Amino acid sequence: MNSSDLISGPSASGSSPAWDAIVVGGSAAGLSAALMLGRARRRVLVIDAGSPRNRFAAHMHGVLGNEGTAPAELVGRGRAEVAAYGVEVREGTVERVSEIAAGAPTSAGEADARLTVAVSGAAPERTRALIVATGIADELPAIPGLAERWGTSVLHCPYCHGWEVRDRRIGVIATSPMALHQARLVRQWSDRVVLFSAAAGEIDAADAQRLRSRGVEVETSPVVEVLGDGDAVTGVRTADGRVTEVGAIFTAGAPRPHDGFLADLDLARTEQPFGLGSFLTVDFAGRTSHERIWGVGNVVNPMANVPIAMAAGAMAGGAANGALVEADFDLAVRATSEGSDADAGAAGARA
Ligand SMILES: Cc1cc2nc3c(=O)[nH]c(=O)nc-3n(C[C@H](O)[C@H](O)[C@H](O)COP(=O)(O)OP(=O)(O)OC[C@H]3O[C@@H](n4cnc5c(N)ncnc54)[C@H](O)[C@@H]3O)c2cc1C
Repeated sequence: MNSSDLISGPSASGSSPAWDAIVVGGSAAGLSAALMLGRARRRVLVIDAGSPRNRFAAHMHGVLGNEGTAPAELVGRGRAEVAAYGVEVREGTVERVSEIAAGAPTSAGEADARLTVAVSGAAPERTRALIVATGIADELPAIPGLAERWGTSVLHCPYCHGWEVRDRRIGVIATSPMALHQARLVRQWSDRVVLFSAAAGEIDAADAQRLRSRGVEVETSPVVEVLGDGDAVTGVRTADGRVTEVGAIFTAGAPRPHDGFLADLDLARTEQPFGLGSFLTVDFAGRTSHERIWGVGNVVNPMANVPIAMAAGAMAGGAANGALVEADFDLAVRATSEGSDADAGAAGARA
């Protein structure tokens, strides 16, 4: 029996039958989870707001088998692939997820679908399992000329874009002390690196010597403007009035997870290393502190790139199906023993 047979029937909201799984966020992580669940013959809905984090970049790199693919092309292919297994993909924004308390009445067929997903401008949906794959927003330094070149010549990850700007004179604009590491990292792609260090605070003698040892220059005056020609960066103006010519910039935005819609559920959170902020706590398979909610990709791991997000999605998709498999057996055992109790009761009444 397919699990949908166990939970079919109208939902309490009257909107539609409950889903085995709802995936919130339909990009690398979410579509990968949906692919596993769809191929496991689950009834799956993907709800996606259509703004993946890498939408500013024309091409993806470091993604085996997809080198240079446009981010939108990968998502388009992923959508077609999951649709082939019956997964439904809808555009929309999830505003809130709530839970019907254990013991509270539900319609008979939907006792296992306790999560309610509120979607902007649409009827709420009920689901047995939830995969959160909503990514992060990069809160960028408020420097004129910077945000408009994000993803083209203002970059965050040398593994994604370092090759494309190799050997240029590269500026690293600090947003925290972590920038010292970023400057040393970028030195792998160019021997002309300038660290604009103001936001990293004072650099001690040992760190300064380390940077100097491989030719990394340090400018301490704060950056007040990024200069450029269209998408291309040409230089950086500092508060002391000087202009330093650079052909690309690396900087780190503050990662803000898109998880506010889960606030009612009081899920456990963990402070990420390097001051990256508070993110949902997940286990190795992406399960949160709620036994039917998984988090995958950037929303739980700000360091994840596309392949890491996809791998996490695949793992959680399998784990969610595994949990539903056991729940299906629990439901079936309960139904069987209730049936035999009823039979025994009827036999007793006849005797
Ligand atoms: C400029 C830039 C370039 C990058 N280039 C590369 C690269 O070359 N190679 C690489 O491997 N990585 C790259 N990355 C990193 C890459 O973008 C992420 O690793 C990847 O997008 C993470 O996938 P994800 O599925 O977790 O999140 P995302 O791709 O961000 O997808 C999250 C999805 O959830 C949706 N969503 C959010 N909130 C809601 C909601 N409430 N309801 C419904 N939907 C919602 C969003 O609209 C979005 O579609 C780049 C990042 C940036 C910023």
